[in-house]
Amino acid sequence: EKSLVWFRRDLRVFDHAALHHALKASKTVFCAFVFDTDILQPLLDAGLTADRRIEFIHDSIVELDLELRKLGGALIVRHGSAADVIPALARQLDINAVFSNRDYEPQARQRDAAVASALAAAGCGWQSFKDQVIFEQDEILTLSGQPFSVFTPYKNAWMKKLATADGPFFLQPYQIEKYAARLAPPPAQPGKIPGLAELGFRETNLRTLKITPGMSGATALLENFLPRIGNYEEARNFPALKGLSYLSIHLRFGTISIRTLARAAYQALHHGAAASGAAVWLSELIWRDFYFMILYHHPHVAQRAFKPDYDAIQWENGQHAQLLFQAWCAGCTGYPLVDAAMLQLKQSGYMHNRLRMVAASFLIKDLGIDWRWGERYFAEQLNDFDLAANNGGWQWAASSGCDAQPYFRIFNPVTQSEKFDAEGKFIRRYLPQLTGLGNKHIHAPWLAPAKDLQDAGIRLGENYPLPLVQHDDARKQTLQRYAVVKKAL
Ligand code: FAD
Repeated sequence: EKSLVWFRRDLRVFDHAALHHALKASKTVFCAFVFDTDILQPLLDAGLTADRRIEFIHDSIVELDLELRKLGGALIVRHGSAADVIPALARQLDINAVFSNRDYEPQARQRDAAVASALAAAGCGWQSFKDQVIFEQDEILTLSGQPFSVFTPYKNAWMKKLATADGPFFLQPYQIEKYAARLAPPPAQPGKIPGLAELGFRETNLRTLKITPGMSGATALLENFLPRIGNYEEARNFPALKGLSYLSIHLRFGTISIRTLARAAYQALHHGAAASGAAVWLSELIWRDFYFMILYHHPHVAQRAFKPDYDAIQWENGQHAQLLFQAWCAGCTGYPLVDAAMLQLKQSGYMHNRLRMVAASFLIKDLGIDWRWGERYFAEQLNDFDLAANNGGWQWAASSGCDAQPYFRIFNPVTQSEKFDAEGKFIRRYLPQLTGLGNKHIHAPWLAPAKDLQDAGIRLGENYPLPLVQHDDARKQTLQRYAVVKKAL
């Protein structure tokens, strides 16, 4: 029996469900990765030739190949449409079954169904496994067997399942090394992994940002985070602090397994001092499972509101809305915390979770712009872009999602700033032109006395923008805009 493991969002050699099952079931196991032109070509067509994610994947692939070689195998790397390449490779290598880890995004599900049927037509099997989540869409259900649409009862049921006799099984790592002798040895004439330039892409500032791809990068981050996990609950809301794990890009590309993280959190739950921080962090990992589950059961959320009534909202449109949107993207709204957040995103591809909420709320509820515009911009910019979590986050901010923020709860960008960046440390990091302004006025420079502005060298409207909107007015307009929803409630 010969099988082929197709790596996608799971770029690691340890604790890998599909690789484990393939090794257990077969005599010889080939491993492959495809730089999929169906995904890459649209980026190239749009001129987006510098993408940190492509560089991250590329470098993670190089490491994956090296690690497979240490185990006696190798990675076959191809560049083409995966929907064609995988069936062709299976034919060429005379494969009996292709093994892969399940992907829950609508387009990926379509692609996998097409590949599976092409393989079936050629007499080759297709086996897919749960790997990306702890619990899949149908594993956590209400008492009446329905998917949850509210997070807290979902989380309680999730925790309860983990506490059953079978619980430890869900966090157990998949053995690889034990069966590694079944990996197909590297071919006599090894193919070369295409360079970034051969794929049509340029280097980005990934290394300058000290983002280390691959399993080594993920492990280093986890080791750095675990001693801090006890502080997570307090530190996680303050963007100027190093309070989070920064593992999201690694979870996105599977350079670390969700089981490794959930296990670490679960163990820390029982360690006195770290327990409350670990509980909150585990809860974030559960949000991740939750949004995968929502996307699976409600694929329409990728285009429309989870709650259909919210599709009736009239968003700002036309040229004025375009200008407002561009100012938001460029970090020129005149609200320092929002601007610093948007600059963090542009310069690094990362945005702190608190700021994602503040920036999203500002676009939707202060500028009156359709959440889908923001969702799309985040999708282009975020290193950790994930359809399920990004959509969940945007619909939460728009109040149109499952278990979302009520529509009448509107973040005030100034008070958020005073609360979560009281000393303006984060703001000053991204907006050096505001450095000289005192902590009292840095959150709303237009309210600062003229003399303070002058002393700090700030000329509003010249080297820092005047606010695009007045929050109090915008708030009233938003409540009117959402009145259509209120009527429907
Ligand atoms: P940590 O705080 O260390 O959390 C650990 C992990 O838990 C994260 O890596 C992530 O996988 C998961 N997680 C944390 N918060 C959430 C959440 N609210 N929903 C789902 N999973 C979560 N997360 C993404 O991974 N990709 C996205 O595209 C994305 N877009 C977002 C858009 C908006 C508008 C909002 C409000 C949130 C979004 N999030 C997204 C969730 C969250 O902001 C990021 O996961 C987090 O900031 C990543 O940083 P970290 O790894 O240091 O997080």
